[in-house]
Amino acid sequence: TRASILNYMKSKIREIKDWPKTGVTFRDVCPLFEDPRAFRGCIDLLRERYSSYQFDVVAGVEARGFVIGAALAYSLDKGFLPLRKEGKLPGPNLSKTYELEYGSSTLEVQNFSSRKGLRVIVVDDLLAKGGTLQAACLLIESCGGIVVEASVLVELSSLQGRKILQDRGWEVFSLLKYD
Ligand code: AMP
Repeated sequence: TRASILNYMKSKIREIKDWPKTGVTFRDVCPLFEDPRAFRGCIDLLRERYSSYQFDVVAGVEARGFVIGAALAYSLDKGFLPLRKEGKLPGPNLSKTYELEYGSSTLEVQNFSSRKGLRVIVVDDLLAKGGTLQAACLLIESCGGIVVEASVLVELSSLQGRKILQDRGWEVFSLLKYD
């Protein structure tokens, strides 16, 4: 069942207290990626959701969003658009700086051809305070795309990232939630 798959997936996420700094509980999804049943569960559940959506491309946030996003794009016969950390992409690029739960960072997207009207599912591993996905969605819109939904494997509900995104008009979906 869906509930048993989700429980199994959750059992593969490690919890690391006070990492990378005091007060942050890090949810490590790498063991879920490494486990074939859990990884397949993640991709299959997202594929089920998005198989009925009209969209063109999956945009993944470096680096863990690449793992989920690329597999999802392939499974639905869509393209993949990387949103990368600053300095990795040959330009011309658009960039957006944002605040993280621990520090600040910049995301970039290549911008050498029009993406006007391109319908995009934006994917990352985890939604915390929402700054990353907000930057990702703004980048998609600034290059002409339309954000169909922002999608994550894990949502840290108490940090209210969902509200930040929904207040700006973006749909949000998560497979697993923690308080
Ligand atoms: P935020 O921008 O605050 O929503 O943070 C989300 C981004 O930072 C994602 O790319 C996550 O991989 C990473 N991240 C933030 N907080 C955590 C956490 N507690 N556990 C694991 N990853 C996190």
